[in-house]
Amino acid sequence: MNILTDFPYLIPQEPDGFHYNGYISIKNKLFRLEVKLPSSGNLQDGQVNCDWKLRQVLGNFSSILKQRLQQCDTLHSFLKELQSVAERQLEKETGFEESSSQLCRQLITDIEDLGWEKLAYVDDDFQEIHLAYTDSDGRTHVLKLYINKQYPHEAPKYSVQLPVKFELHWSGARGLTPSYQHFVCAVQSYQEFWSLVGELDSNTWVLEPEKPAFSARHRRIAIDSSVSVQITVDPVNPRALPDCKFLGSDHAIAPLRQSMNNNISDWDENGSLLKNLEHLLDVKFPSPSTHSKEEFSAECGICYAYRLEDEIPDEVCNDARCHQPFHRACLVEWLRALPSSRQSFNTIFGSCPYCEKAMTVKLIAR
Ligand SMILES: [Zn+2]
Ligand SMILES: [Zn+2]
Repeated sequence: MNILTDFPYLIPQEPDGFHYNGYISIKNKLFRLEVKLPSSGNLQDGQVNCDWKLRQVLGNFSSILKQRLQQCDTLHSFLKELQSVAERQLEKETGFEESSSQLCRQLITDIEDLGWEKLAYVDDDFQEIHLAYTDSDGRTHVLKLYINKQYPHEAPKYSVQLPVKFELHWSGARGLTPSYQHFVCAVQSYQEFWSLVGELDSNTWVLEPEKPAFSARHRRIAIDSSVSVQITVDPVNPRALPDCKFLGSDHAIAPLRQSMNNNISDWDENGSLLKNLEHLLDVKFPSPSTHSKEEFSAECGICYAYRLEDEIPDEVCNDARCHQPFHRACLVEWLRALPSSRQSFNTIFGSCPYCEKAMTVKLIAR
């Protein structure tokens, strides 16, 4: 009953022999295995790490084996047990094991061809792998691949964060490299877009989206309390005049519209979005260095919250002394409950819950 005789590839790592590292042979195949015992030699507190291939073979037995580790008298008897469970599993699932290990071998070869440094993540079953690319400005972009049994003959499902729809090229037997290169090319083509919107993100208060993803083309930028502009940037032509939508009371929006009409011909496609927008609207955007975000995230006057699911308080009372913002959903509910309110087509007419001046709200998105 000697560990070294029965498990010749498991090498004691310390003179006291409480740490073994190496391989265990199961049906003439070698699997990585590491066993660490506390210096007491007590199995109960032992730790067993094996590679994903062995874990796949063991499947549901992994948890049973964990329990057996607590119960076995000696490490030798535990290893024997592990070996025989794995052997039985292998016999049962030879067909499956053959095909799935073939797939894993293929994937490993393909990752090797691509370069391991590009692999950012792989799950235990080699079913989800993330390939990363860091662009020249230090932004890291990830191509997530969901590997199916037909790999590499069938294109894997994938997801990316790009501002324009991306169709992954898949060339089957040529592995991951062509697809990765295609992804990198796509990423490189949006560098200007990300650096222009990135300038907005760091120099203005972007109210929406809260944490812009690489795919986000919209930015809702605070101009004053309860006044903001939502811009939609064209990722292919990011220096062009973006689509602008103003949010706030009519009173606050009117001068912005006027400035836009006056200055639109000055838009300079060689300039930055930030400078162009400030000139276009004749404003200096409040920035994180001069203002705190709370100044622009006024709570809804009905529910007293700022964020209601995906909504922020967009509906603003037009009365210059009131300017109270509300969520559309809260205001609709409030006005509908008023006996004095009336609805015509998709507009509800009623009065502001705060100052009682006339107020309307549309039922559809603006
Ligand atoms: Zn509300
Ligand atoms: Zn009001």
